[in-house]
Amino acid sequence: MIWNKNEIDRVVQLAEAGFQFMQQCNVDQRAKLMYAIAAEIESLGDVLIETAHVETALPIGRLQGEKVRTVNQWRKYADAVGTGIYSEARIDQDPNGQFDLRKYNKGLGPVVVFGASNFPFAFSTAGGDTASAIGAGCSVIIKAHPAHVKTSQLMADAIDRGLAKFGAPAGVFNHIVADAMATGQQLVQHPLVKAVAFTGSFKGGKSLYDLGQSRPDPIPVFAEMGSINPVFVLPDYLNNQVDGFAKQYIGSLALGVGQFCTNPGVLIGLAGEKLELLKAHLKKELATISAGTMLHPGILENYDRLTAEMKRHDGVKLLAVGGNEMQGGMAQAMLVETDAAQVLADPTLLEEVFGPFGLIITCSDEDEMRTIMESLNGQITLTFAASENDIRKYKELFVLAQDKCGRLLFQGMPTGVEVQYAMQHGGPFPASTDARFTSVGPDAVKRFLKPISFQNWPNEFLPMELQDENPLHINRLVNQQWTKE
Ligand code: NAP
Repeated sequence: MIWNKNEIDRVVQLAEAGFQFMQQCNVDQRAKLMYAIAAEIESLGDVLIETAHVETALPIGRLQGEKVRTVNQWRKYADAVGTGIYSEARIDQDPNGQFDLRKYNKGLGPVVVFGASNFPFAFSTAGGDTASAIGAGCSVIIKAHPAHVKTSQLMADAIDRGLAKFGAPAGVFNHIVADAMATGQQLVQHPLVKAVAFTGSFKGGKSLYDLGQSRPDPIPVFAEMGSINPVFVLPDYLNNQVDGFAKQYIGSLALGVGQFCTNPGVLIGLAGEKLELLKAHLKKELATISAGTMLHPGILENYDRLTAEMKRHDGVKLLAVGGNEMQGGMAQAMLVETDAAQVLADPTLLEEVFGPFGLIITCSDEDEMRTIMESLNGQITLTFAASENDIRKYKELFVLAQDKCGRLLFQGMPTGVEVQYAMQHGGPFPASTDARFTSVGPDAVKRFLKPISFQNWPNEFLPMELQDENPLHINRLVNQQWTKE
């Protein structure tokens, strides 16, 4: 369904009214509003889980966990907003009375959020983008992901109930169901929209980013897109870890039928007996992985097409496929191998294959491994399966890796994403369109803020965050001293 221009304009006008309401809410009130929404989501019972299960084919247990994560996410972001850290209040008073300058961060305006297909709760209608935009004092227009519209509606109703309990107008949160790209594009182009958040394909994210930049008044488009999340496996680590590592890697590769933006899709190692032994263990582990149903036919179609292209590639050899009891909608896990020279000759081998697919790249020596590191695009994560001795020996790789990713792991697997202050979920382009920001963790709020400085204003007209008495009791930088006074 395509929304016509008038319908879109009506929703954006409502969102603008919602933003005017949010502008009047201080950090304490916003935190309370977010708590009210969290309670409504929490109270959604089995119907939410069952609806999402039918729409996405994700297992019940995974959905139950994702719901808890989503509720906690709202509360955690609310707590962070309530402390005032994102207000970044600063007050500078000239001792001679020449100036009184006060700065804080306020919401940007209505934000358009594109729900993601692979996290129907945590990255979708009631997900982190919506929570962080509301935490920043913005209103939200969500474009529901067409693969789970009923789930999206249940979440939207819960948010509406939370808003109503708080006494907020409906325009603070607006839910749009449309299966036509034109609707999303018109939203991004609407003059009253001030920012966009997106999680999904590179193609979709980049095209919405370009649209945001081509407006007469360009706006930030925070798109979190593809990543191959390389794992560099180093020799000393492999001395004792081959079996354990193989289990860990295949477990992470196949988790959720590989449908995570942190899926470790590429493994890079040095030629030799240890790597060959590892390949044998990986092959054995992959054989234990059953085929799984993918989120929607479009994702399966992409997976089938890209894995078929890989298998046809002259420089790529099929290493193993997972269990093959297939039904409609299912994908098989797959491992293929190549060498560094092939990858350097054809960089398309390093493009994301979304799903349970892994490419093993053999490097002949350390120099070749460094060249592969240098040739990598920006990544959400990069992992060293390494010992401390390995890192000492391959220090240069460790240094280079820091400019290639948002999160750098020492051992372990990247698929678990903690909702914490110290989490960075994003990365240099093309992992995201702005490496300075994260889309997971309370710092995600920062994306939707803008600073404003007030010069010489009487106390009564200032936002509470900046008033003399510090009525919200937040931490502020006053005349270069951090204080709550
Ligand atoms: P998608 O195709 O990028 O779509 C996500 C949302 O953005 C949908 O609502 C879609 O609307 C909208 N959209 C996409 N391109 C657009 C455009 N040019 N203009 C306006 N709206 C646009 O992602 P998906 O449906 O989740 O999965 C497709 C592929 O995305 C996967 O195969 C995978 O490669 C990738 N993916 C990556 C991640 C990640 O975290 N990196 C997560 C999920 C998917 P319509 O549905 O109306 O087209």
